[in-house]
Amino acid sequence: MKKIKISSRLKSFSGLFVSILLLIQFISCEPIGKNRALIITGQNNHNWEKSSVLLKDILYISGIFKTDILISPAQGEDMSGFLPSFKKYNVIVLDYNGDSWPDQTKNNFVEYVKGGGGVVVYHAANNPFPDWKEFNEIIGLGGWGNRDESSGPYVYWENGEIIRNNSPGRGGDHGEQHAFLVVNRDKEHPVTKGLPESWMHARDELYGLLRGPATNLHVLATAYSDTATGGDGRHEPVLFTIGYGEGRIFHTVLGHAGGEDETPAMECAGFITTLQRGAEWAATGNVTLDLPDNLPNSASVVKWPDFRPLTLDELMVKASSYKVGKSRKYLADLTQRIRKDSNSPKMLLKYEEKMIELLNSEATSDSKNYLMKELSWMGSDKCIPVLKELKKNKNTEEMASYALERLSAD
Ligand code: ZN
Repeated sequence: MKKIKISSRLKSFSGLFVSILLLIQFISCEPIGKNRALIITGQNNHNWEKSSVLLKDILYISGIFKTDILISPAQGEDMSGFLPSFKKYNVIVLDYNGDSWPDQTKNNFVEYVKGGGGVVVYHAANNPFPDWKEFNEIIGLGGWGNRDESSGPYVYWENGEIIRNNSPGRGGDHGEQHAFLVVNRDKEHPVTKGLPESWMHARDELYGLLRGPATNLHVLATAYSDTATGGDGRHEPVLFTIGYGEGRIFHTVLGHAGGEDETPAMECAGFITTLQRGAEWAATGNVTLDLPDNLPNSASVVKWPDFRPLTLDELMVKASSYKVGKSRKYLADLTQRIRKDSNSPKMLLKYEEKMIELLNSEATSDSKNYLMKELSWMGSDKCIPVLKELKKNKNTEEMASYALERLSAD
């Protein structure tokens, strides 16, 4: 009797134990497909306190990364204990421009990349360690730190091909900050596939005259460094990949984060999208992320202050204050989304419902007129009552009549 009692108690205890274990496992379980990223920062001639957090946000928003930030000792402090666990991560994001790492850390990093680890080199992370041979092979190209012809060739785009120029001269330069056009040179690479062929990047430094071994370096995109803005007159590589051992490296020279409050370069939809895609590619060799709807084109910059595209509701709120003569970017964004979904009756109905809401609201007449023009080709019976209502208002009368006529409902 007693024995049985004990064993049944033991059984229920062990059952409870297993349940707790399962629960712990469930809570700590990462969603499928999560890649682990480590941002290394702590010393930089840039505002690393800001940039590292924004990089983490950008990776988080992609939905496929779990990211840690590792802050190094401050400049001049003892670095001997700085030993990141590279191997725990699928990708290391370098936001570091500072003192030398301990030999063991250097060796571990090189072994990590050789063994197939991913790396993202971000902006000034290509400045440090001019004399560390393997690091320069990993980043492909670097600047400043007394780099010169002994560091490797200049690499740039000219007449449809990549030039490697060994002429003497310093490595690393940029003119004044400005918005500039990024031109994709490889439209088939997983990172750039489907992106606009060229897109305006928000105000940033345009790095030029970078030098390095540039072995296994593949240029994805360039930007023309105009002498008018203090540049070097070359089509400079701004997004590129490097192969090192089994490792994949994505290098973006974009994304300056200074001491100013604004971070336009990091808010740029093109920067964010290429960083997320580049990080995924470096981590896995593939890109599964969808391309967002409202990327910049060759004429206009698109900034995402929240590091993601606006939701449809947010976009409708922005669009509702449009006045003729002011920027039409939110309306253009809406039009772009509608065009993209024009084969889906279900999506068109969703847009129509949101547009009807706006037409019934206190939105500006200009925004209503713009939306009625869209509805004139994609609207259903649902929008007829509000169009008839707006026909009674002198500010919206003309467009409402036009839309009703096109919808053959008048
Ligand atoms: Zn910078």
